[in-house]
Amino acid sequence: METIIIDGKKAASVLQEKLAGETALFTQATGLKPCLAAVMVGNNGASQTYVEAKMASCEKVGFESRLIRFEDNISEQNLLAEIDKLNADPTLHGFIVQLPLPKHISVDLVIDRVSPEKDVDGFHPLNMGRMAKNQPAFAPATPWGIMQLLDFYQIPTEGKNVVVLGRSQIVGLPISLLLARSGNPGNATVTICHSKTVNLQHHTLQADIIVAALGIPEFLTGEMVKQGVTIIDVGLTRLPDASKKSGYRLAGDVHFESVAPKSAAITPVPGGVGPMTITALMQNTLLAARNQLGMA
Ligand code: NAP
Repeated sequence: METIIIDGKKAASVLQEKLAGETALFTQATGLKPCLAAVMVGNNGASQTYVEAKMASCEKVGFESRLIRFEDNISEQNLLAEIDKLNADPTLHGFIVQLPLPKHISVDLVIDRVSPEKDVDGFHPLNMGRMAKNQPAFAPATPWGIMQLLDFYQIPTEGKNVVVLGRSQIVGLPISLLLARSGNPGNATVTICHSKTVNLQHHTLQADIIVAALGIPEFLTGEMVKQGVTIIDVGLTRLPDASKKSGYRLAGDVHFESVAPKSAAITPVPGGVGPMTITALMQNTLLAARNQLGMA
């Protein structure tokens, strides 16, 4: 059995081409470009790379993009006031606050302050709740990107045992909800594992599909999975590597060398989930722009 390497770059490029066509129609009809802003606090190198990739993709599909930077000593109160300004700015259709934030700022307070109509990361409780209820919502970008990747590769999920490793608000929990809810992809039987799970390997060995989102490089190894499993590796950690010009390499949460030979299909890192996250973010932004102009 040959392992399918799930090519997130290819899927993203096809979906972004479609998005560029839809954006051109939007611009023709309104004279406006969808506008996405990214708020960055401080100088985290990884965040900077992700934000730059998001901004570059925006330009490619015909969006406007803005990068709004603050020093890492900005007070929580001032950051919330800046978010209020973005909420009120009619020229801006969607924005994200790049995580992580400095420790003195509450992530929950910040996320709750973003207007649900501009919350294209889909982190606001209103969007999370709507998504859980299968109502129209901005679904979080990474989980929504994974759903589209499964769809693109026609990987069946109905009735499958899915194990999600991690229960974060931005990946583990929402992907679990999306895969369990009624629909296609969806209709899966989902088990959520986390740091308090006992005998995690017992669960992973039953899984037809594993979504790994722990942030522990190469955590999932070959002896933890059954033959024929499908693997979605969300993990993205920078590991020091003197042989690279950048001084680091990107590692996923899956030990690719031992897991890939047992897998029917597997996402690589990089080039798997990452490009789909950006695509989903831009799809949400066009949707936000259309909603705000009454075109939904
Ligand atoms: P997170 O908020 O740190 O959550 C990690 C989750 O893993 C938590 O639920 C934690 O359990 C669980 N966990 C930790 N150690 C565990 C263990 N030994 N066994 C089982 N579960 C364990 O991380 P995140 O924000 O979801 O991100 C996860 C990874 O995905 C990171 O590497 C991140 O960089 C990457 N990521 C990639 C993209 C992309 O576009 N490719 C997007 C977002 C995130 P508890 O809840 O019990 O603490």
